[in-house]
Amino acid sequence: MIPAYKTIFLLPLFLFSCSSRQLVSDPVAENGVSRALAIYRKSVLSGIHYTLELDIPKQRTKAIVAHETIKFQLSAVKLPLQLDFKENPAKISWLTINGQKVQVTHQNEHLILMPEFLRKGNNEIQIQFQAGEGALNRNQDYLYTLFVPDRARTVFPCFDQPDLKATYTLTLRLPKEWSAIANAGLKDSVSEQSFKTYHYKTSDLLSTYLFAFAAGKFQLYQNNVNGHPADFLYRETDSVKLRSSLPAIFDIHSSSLKYFEDWTTISYPFQKFGFVAIPDFQFGGMEHPGAIQYKASSLFLDAGATKDQLNARNNLIAHETAHMWFGDLVTMDWFSDVWMKEVFANFMADKSAEGQDGNDNYSLKFLIDHFPAAYAVDRTAGANPIRQPLDNLKDAGTLYGSIIYHKAPIMMQQLEKLMGKDKFREGVREYLHKFANSNASWPDLIRILDRHTSVDLEKWNKVWVNENGRPVIDYAVTYQGGKIKRLMINQKAEYGLHRVWPQTFELTLFYPGLVKVLRANLKGENLEIKEAEGLNKPLFMLFNSGGEGYGLWPVDAQLSQHLFDLEKPLHRSVAYISLYEQMLNGKTVRPSDLLILFGKGLEKEHEELNIKLLCGYISNIYWQFSSKNERVKISGELEGELWAAMLQQKNGNNKKQLFKAYQDVFLSQTARNRLYQVWKNQKAPVGITLSEDDYTSLAFSLAVRDDADGSILTKQESRITNPDRKRRFEFIVPAVSGNKNIRDEFNSSLKYLANRTKESNVLAALYYLHHPLRQQYSIDYLPGSLVLLEEIQATGDIFFPQSWLQANFGAYQSREAADIVRGFLKSHPNYNPRLKAKILQTTDNLFKAEKLSD
Ligand SMILES: [Zn+2]
Repeated sequence: MIPAYKTIFLLPLFLFSCSSRQLVSDPVAENGVSRALAIYRKSVLSGIHYTLELDIPKQRTKAIVAHETIKFQLSAVKLPLQLDFKENPAKISWLTINGQKVQVTHQNEHLILMPEFLRKGNNEIQIQFQAGEGALNRNQDYLYTLFVPDRARTVFPCFDQPDLKATYTLTLRLPKEWSAIANAGLKDSVSEQSFKTYHYKTSDLLSTYLFAFAAGKFQLYQNNVNGHPADFLYRETDSVKLRSSLPAIFDIHSSSLKYFEDWTTISYPFQKFGFVAIPDFQFGGMEHPGAIQYKASSLFLDAGATKDQLNARNNLIAHETAHMWFGDLVTMDWFSDVWMKEVFANFMADKSAEGQDGNDNYSLKFLIDHFPAAYAVDRTAGANPIRQPLDNLKDAGTLYGSIIYHKAPIMMQQLEKLMGKDKFREGVREYLHKFANSNASWPDLIRILDRHTSVDLEKWNKVWVNENGRPVIDYAVTYQGGKIKRLMINQKAEYGLHRVWPQTFELTLFYPGLVKVLRANLKGENLEIKEAEGLNKPLFMLFNSGGEGYGLWPVDAQLSQHLFDLEKPLHRSVAYISLYEQMLNGKTVRPSDLLILFGKGLEKEHEELNIKLLCGYISNIYWQFSSKNERVKISGELEGELWAAMLQQKNGNNKKQLFKAYQDVFLSQTARNRLYQVWKNQKAPVGITLSEDDYTSLAFSLAVRDDADGSILTKQESRITNPDRKRRFEFIVPAVSGNKNIRDEFNSSLKYLANRTKESNVLAALYYLHHPLRQQYSIDYLPGSLVLLEEIQATGDIFFPQSWLQANFGAYQSREAADIVRGFLKSHPNYNPRLKAKILQTTDNLFKAEKLSD
């Protein structure tokens, strides 16, 4: 496929006849939904209502016949009106405008409605067509829509922009044994032979990207969510998971909903609550009112679930529930502000957990959830600001990433601290009430918040929201007679223009049996910590000890030797992150030293979230920042440390994290034999619960190391009973195969869209395909993966370009791999800048690894 942005330039103007040139409205019909088109349509359109009837056959290859009525008001009729339909116009059988049958004119993904058929005031369009399938996610016996950010227009003709909210009346004709869920409640259902027809009530006002339904063979579970009746559709068959998860899933929804109703003072703003668990869903969740979609494996957990998985489930549900107010009730004008709904959802999800967790735990969770992920992008040459301009909705997917999901909540926390919690809440409430059922931009919110504070928010906004990057914080301390004479803090931009990030943070001085906590409000380039003057010289200092400060923090030379004596889990966590960031920075900490330090600490760390963080860092340093020789040299010792730490830990989840890390790094025959026995007998080490998914991943770990038992994968497959999980397994197997030809074939198959539709499975397969132990062969796939990127962006869902790059390049460390990226960028000087930025973000570790290993 030719990327959309190129076709605009390739279309020769003379192809349009004279009459069709007059058809071109102002703004001209170009691919996608341009900002100019959106502004024009917003200025003339209102009162939009869609009636949509879809006839969904049992066989997924059969077309879906559809009928649509669009009613709307028009305030001006001089210009043609563009109705978005990114599909083959031959799929339209007929079209009427205000009762008159008209010829279908389709230009660059739009149906052109001519002014002579339109009128001021009420208009009605009727369309008989075959639904487009680009965003219907049709599977063997279920399907679901996923329209964010601009994919409703791939399924049915619509005005696909977030600020043209509309109501929808949906009718679904379905195979009799199917169930379904939609935004609105069911009005009635009519049965006829092997089919049934569901008539839904008219929905609330929704942006097109929030219109949704799912239908298929699902189980229905009904219960209450904070007093609202709620439907839950799922396909999970594991009775243990169902028993332990169903009540928890409803409880978390209830407490989230209650929290947000109280915090916002607006009761749940839609007519119905409901959600559906989708196997191998491409996102964690999607916030369609009345029909939230979740990745099934994130909801259904068993007794062996780690704290991290439980936290992730809490976060996910709270995040999607927060969206009911932040995003669904008040929606951004345009996707350039998509980060606003995401930051509120993430930030509010964290806040809703604050009460349950207690302050220190909350800070620890917030730190680990957001800072490493935000740094992973913001430290790179491809870093983007939180707020980015957007000319056309077709590029909206490129805005998503860790900056909006992780840096933005950090920024929001700083904003809340700056304003004070009460003022911040007052401002946000005012914003929600003012823009309910409508749209607002970030400047709209800042204007309101500005009235609630004396702080200069504009200035603050510029560096935190409109610019990329992070500060490098440093310090200078002088002593006199065993006491601090002067302690100075300074900051400078890590790269780019000279800037300062106003922020507050904490630093702690450690003495034998005593600590002294100092607070700092760093407004400019330098700050003298007056409070420190005259204090005794400490054993060492911990910068950013409260965990809320953003940047590359200095590490006291004495910190390493006291690291595991730090009493507070939050302090240790801050130290781990700062040490790792300093290692990447390449100045004060060497990868091999840090690997040894972290490895030795495993036995002493008992906080589960910290163990997870440490194991992640160990895996990164081991696979990406150690040479093959170093790895072989250290692996025995590291395996020993992980196993010993696992045995010595009391908590089952801690043990499981360490077991997983052991499974990740192992190279020795002893380790292989241990793991093989665990897998073969399905008998986990004492104190650990392993699920079917855990055994599957163990089977893959053994197979990717070309295990002597060549039948591991076949045996594992026969153990899987759930059909969705079996399909996933079968998809991944060729990527893990010991036969290079099979792997080559698998890699080639990804060129075809049909083989990339289950994105989460593709990513899992790529992880094994590019496993460090297979890289000498799989490096040949990298140039092709880069070539495919534009098509991935044009055809895939919003997170796919980034995760595609991550899954392909995330584990490489060699100069050869870095050269492939450099060569590609050099030979594509006019490459889409957003995609180029994604490449620079995801290959930053590769370039750093290359340098560090010099
Ligand atoms: Zn979200």
